[in-house]
Amino acid sequence: MPTTQIREITAAARLDNVRYAIRDLACVADEVAIQGHKILPLNIGDPITFDFQTPRHLIEAVHKAMRDGKNGYAPSSGIKEALEAIRGEAARKGINTVQDVFVTSGVSESVDICLAALVNPGENILTPSPDYPLYSAVLAKLGIELNTYDLNEEDGWQPDLLDIKRKITPRTRAIVLINPNNPTGSVCSRKMLEQLAELARRHNLVLFADEIYDKLILDDDQHIALAAVAPDVPVVTFGGLSKNYLAPGWRIGWGVVSGEAAAVKPYAEGIGKLLRSRLCANHPEQYAIKAALEGPQDHLPEVRKKLRVRRDLTVKWCNSTPRVSCVSPRGAFYAYPRLDIPEGDDVFVRELLIQKHVLVVHGSGFGQKAGTKHFRIVFLPDEKTLKNAYSAIAEFMRERYP
Ligand code: PLP
Repeated sequence: MPTTQIREITAAARLDNVRYAIRDLACVADEVAIQGHKILPLNIGDPITFDFQTPRHLIEAVHKAMRDGKNGYAPSSGIKEALEAIRGEAARKGINTVQDVFVTSGVSESVDICLAALVNPGENILTPSPDYPLYSAVLAKLGIELNTYDLNEEDGWQPDLLDIKRKITPRTRAIVLINPNNPTGSVCSRKMLEQLAELARRHNLVLFADEIYDKLILDDDQHIALAAVAPDVPVVTFGGLSKNYLAPGWRIGWGVVSGEAAAVKPYAEGIGKLLRSRLCANHPEQYAIKAALEGPQDHLPEVRKKLRVRRDLTVKWCNSTPRVSCVSPRGAFYAYPRLDIPEGDDVFVRELLIQKHVLVVHGSGFGQKAGTKHFRIVFLPDEKTLKNAYSAIAEFMRERYP
């Protein structure tokens, strides 16, 4: 028997700041499920969990690729036909100064690589608050201190430009814009995009335009690509199959680098280095990219129609329920209602889960202005499920805050 006892292996200290509330709550949910309760999951933005299906022709394309033996490694940047299709899509979005495109394992990997390829210790990247927590998790992993700018609830959750101006320092390298937004469902106006572009131009910043929900605009407005209004500015536009094309499990995303060629060249080379160091993205699934971007788009009107009904139901419930109010989402499938309650939104969400088995995510998991409280609803479930969930939340609130 060895005489020395193996000591505990501690995780890296920088992980203390890695949080992902959306999945972290799953542990409490598992406990509730073990006790035999059926959970109403309004927490994860996965359309496949609900009544949405990956379009058939995408599945056929991947199936064919597998049968045709496309099961080895792919080129690090992605297969040729996918890259061409992504360039074509960028042109349709009005992005005319494309310098590079690449395929990754979801937008998640694009974000990981593009942030890592840009930022040095001591520098910072402006991220929205509330934000989709991937960005803060990646920055924490890189040991980069957060520098957040507010989204303004009073202004329909648009970026607060004054706050952005205040937060730009000589060590700021980039601004992240999520449009349509997770968790608020807001969509940016052209004027807002132009103002952001001007700020980036003036301060020599990169813009990260996360447009993964760009085909899920619920009203009559048009989605405008940030890179289209900022052809000279270095922009990385993120897109993918997870949301618009209902295939989140395939883990296919991409990045489009645009701007003036000479300005973005060294950065694009840095991204290339990291792409090569992880070999490649999932190979057979890349064959769905051309099929998605150039094939039938019939599923989209259907998806938007369902989402519009579910959004309207959600907003109507929020605005007719005491202690709840909500800016109406205009894109994606998230609502971020405000709560007027005498306790933290994390307690609200935990107790709601334990007592009524409804799973939402607390605002403190995304970030919010001091003194405000919110929770995020994913309104992907069918109307019956949503109605049941909203009755349960209303009952919970009546009992807890009489
Ligand atoms: N960006 C935003 C704004 C998201 O909401 C999500 C997923 O919910 C992602 C990126 C991650 O996407 P992917 O599945 O392509 O990694």
